[in-house]
Amino acid sequence: PELFLPERPNSKGFDLTDVPTLDAIDAARAPFRTTQIQAAPLLAKEAKPKPFQFVTNPYSTIDSAGSVAEASAADVETALSNAAPWDAQPSLRSQALNQAADLYEANFGKLFALLAREAGKTPMDTVAELREAVDFLRYYAARIPEAAPVGTFTCISPWNFPLAIFTGQIAAALAAGNAVLAKPADQTPLIAFEAVTLLHEAGVPRTALQLLPGDGTTVGAALTSDPRVNGVAFTGSTATAQRIRRAMAANLAPGAPLIAETGGLNAMIVDSTALPEQAVTAIIESAFQSAGQRCSALRCLYVQEDIAEGLLEMLQGAMKELCLGDPWAFATDSGPVIDTAAQATIADHIAKAKSDGRLLFQLPIPQEGTFVAPTLIKVAGIGDLEREIFGPVLHVATFKSDELDAVIDAINATGYGLTFGLQTRIDDRVQHVSERIHAGNIYINRNQIGAIVGSQPFGGEGLSGTGPKAGGPNYLRRFCTEEIPTQYR
Ligand code: GLU
Repeated sequence: PELFLPERPNSKGFDLTDVPTLDAIDAARAPFRTTQIQAAPLLAKEAKPKPFQFVTNPYSTIDSAGSVAEASAADVETALSNAAPWDAQPSLRSQALNQAADLYEANFGKLFALLAREAGKTPMDTVAELREAVDFLRYYAARIPEAAPVGTFTCISPWNFPLAIFTGQIAAALAAGNAVLAKPADQTPLIAFEAVTLLHEAGVPRTALQLLPGDGTTVGAALTSDPRVNGVAFTGSTATAQRIRRAMAANLAPGAPLIAETGGLNAMIVDSTALPEQAVTAIIESAFQSAGQRCSALRCLYVQEDIAEGLLEMLQGAMKELCLGDPWAFATDSGPVIDTAAQATIADHIAKAKSDGRLLFQLPIPQEGTFVAPTLIKVAGIGDLEREIFGPVLHVATFKSDELDAVIDAINATGYGLTFGLQTRIDDRVQHVSERIHAGNIYINRNQIGAIVGSQPFGGEGLSGTGPKAGGPNYLRRFCTEEIPTQYR
């Protein structure tokens, strides 16, 4: 315990119902409304200059938060050959990670602006994202493991949490003393560049943390199939995790860990005893916040037949109140999806449901930006969903009072097991359902998104991930070799 600093509490974030707070946020992000960031690989040795390409803004075709120079094969080689585990004393590693958390908080204006302009994040989402990133840094900083690091870790992160998940993977690998090669999602290299710049400023050496922006087929593939890599942390689709596993199996040492957090087909069951207002609020947040672009998001709602008509009417009424629009504006509840490719995939899915006569309800959408209309689609059950649709589309099924166990079986039969929600006022049912459902994170009588570091470790089972859960007590263990029992030290 004397090896690291005492734990700091979770970040308090920002109260978006407080007008002076909104003014402070506005003032802090205003200077970054039009700034241009030039992101490039951040390597232990100087990289050759390369051509830059613009990064898109999902809300605007005339704005870009900056441009990126992607890592070349030579950069990947430089990173691999100069990576060196972070051998600073545990207390110094802890100090640097805490310092990085402070720097993130101090730079909130710039980070909020970038999250809006590069990832289409609404103010509510940017606040949550910064809080989670800071919490990851402080949580792992307080738990520096006593075992040796695995070596060099490749960290591949998604665009839907370009700051929080990007930082969480890196912070864990660094807390354990590994060298990190970070490959951010192609859509969000600018936020990653800012984050790594702050981590370096906080004292993380450049040999211990290098940034390699680029796409999965070149940079990602190279960083998961080189024998100098000793472990991989990945968050993204199940199919990509399986590809990474194959590449690692063929090229890396047999024991190299893969820590993968993947997709989900998440369900919520609302029985006839549920409080309708509470259920509707939980459904709206779970399915449509962040434009449904969370792996935790609700995809399939099961409503007990006797209350279905009334509940769906209330749900549609609540959907009509959603404000879709400019992610920069405080009034916006839901922004665009990440890019035109995502928009087209989700639109295809909706078009098919429409032609099958299964479209229940859809909102109108703004003209500008890659929006997808929040949509309700009728299904017989979760088995009708062939794959995860990563957007604001909610599938709705009904069940009869004697079908609860069949519903649980159908949910488990998908093979995924990430989040699950239950709305009921029957205590025995809470017990019954939560014992049977296969899901990493089970939420009762609330929404099913927004896990909090420390109190709600996040991660799934089956097709949804390898575990251990991020932001939980076991996560760091996979980033180390076996711990040495105290009597042998
Ligand atoms: N941890 C996030 C949540 O609880 C989801 C992470 C993800 O979408 O990858 O909502």
